[in-house]
Amino acid sequence: MSLIVAKFGGTSVASPERIKNVAKRLVRMRQQGNEVVAVVSAMGKTTDELMGLASAVTGAPPARELDRLLSTGEQVSMTLLAMAVEALGYKAMSFTGRQAGIQTDGTHNKAKIVKVHNERILDALEAGVIPVVAGFQGIDANDDITTLGRGGSDTTAVAIAWGINADVCEIYSDVDGVYTTDPRVAPRAKKLDSVCYDDMLELSSAGSGVLQSRAVEFARKWKVVIHSRSAFSDAEGTYIKEEYEMEEAVITGIASDTSEVKVTVRGLPDTPAVAAKMFSALAANNVNLDMIIQNVSEGGVTDISFTTPGADLGRAKDTLERIVPQIGAREFIVDEDIAKVSLVGTGMKSSPGVASRAFQTLGDNNINIVAISTSPIRLSVIVDAAQATQAVQCLHTAFGLDSDDLFVETQLSAEEIAAKMKKGR
Ligand code: ADP
Ligand code: ASP
Ligand code: MG
Repeated sequence: MSLIVAKFGGTSVASPERIKNVAKRLVRMRQQGNEVVAVVSAMGKTTDELMGLASAVTGAPPARELDRLLSTGEQVSMTLLAMAVEALGYKAMSFTGRQAGIQTDGTHNKAKIVKVHNERILDALEAGVIPVVAGFQGIDANDDITTLGRGGSDTTAVAIAWGINADVCEIYSDVDGVYTTDPRVAPRAKKLDSVCYDDMLELSSAGSGVLQSRAVEFARKWKVVIHSRSAFSDAEGTYIKEEYEMEEAVITGIASDTSEVKVTVRGLPDTPAVAAKMFSALAANNVNLDMIIQNVSEGGVTDISFTTPGADLGRAKDTLERIVPQIGAREFIVDEDIAKVSLVGTGMKSSPGVASRAFQTLGDNNINIVAISTSPIRLSVIVDAAQATQAVQCLHTAFGLDSDDLFVETQLSAEEIAAKMKKGR
């Protein structure tokens, strides 16, 4: 007998039919002798639709109200799933984030879980009930509803799994595990049997959408084992845990992310403290930075480029409009059509030559590198967004990650891939 937390993403609960299938799966788990807690996302594209409604009313929705609005999506799916389970003759009860004991800090729209009160869930299990928890939401110290950032139901599931000491946190989605890269972008991607926390965290942070990075961070910290698997089949998926089962490869996977933009400040005086002034102003305005590149100066002036999430671009522009004249720079320009492609693998640490092979491969394919950044287990390059798919595919081949089996189920068109990669914005 195992205690399982089973999280179902938007696609898995997109219609009443699919909700009924999820109910059947939960019942099956119980019949096999397991205890189970379900965590659900909002149905299909509900969260996007709710965001659309908010922006139709105002250009700048107040964060508190937006969280309240977005949290309703998961409250619809949780009740429908509880009803569907009851219809199969099993007891079920839905719980909002607050009722499930998810306490967060007060950072609306991307709140962090600070405590999990497990009593109600444990009481429900004790009473033979299948608890169905609304993902993505919690409650802050002011009793206000918060949400955990896009994809946040993954984090709810991991937190609940930790809170009730579950044996495993199963994350069901429309892919049957974690692949060497998004199988819809590179159809030759291979499913991985297991991925260690460090690699998964880098992959998620670098834009691999299959698991929210906060969820992986939480799982790594508290040693929660995640099983990423398909909502539409019984196939074994991918285990995310401390160690690999097989010998690790040099590169575990490749992620791409088009949600960042590049800003270049031109004609900056090359004197001490100028960069400090500019970046302090950006930090004060809550602009997150990823890569920073300073060019060689010529005639006492230089250019500095940085990348920032698309969501921070408005604030970056406001700051630079003010600060650029103050620091004596000439102008700033924005390039939104960039993509970050990242190679990830703890195996990289003991394997020189990753960078040279990556650069050579991109060069051979006529893909220009705009910027580079590295960590001990990641190499990221910025390329033109239009070349992102090609970059992922040729690196995937060059690092020996291609599989002979095609993931043909849902290969997307070039436009669909581009739209998918823009999702994070
Ligand atoms: P859910 O809505 O269930 O949370 P997501 O859309 O968040 O599901 O995550 C599943 C999607 O993640 C897949 O459809 C796939 O296209 C994408 N994805 C990106 N990178 C990977 C990867 N490395 N392995 C598997 N899927 C990936
Ligand atoms: N419904 C939320 C979203 O679309 C949370 C989630 O699906 O995990 O981001
Ligand atoms: Mg998701």
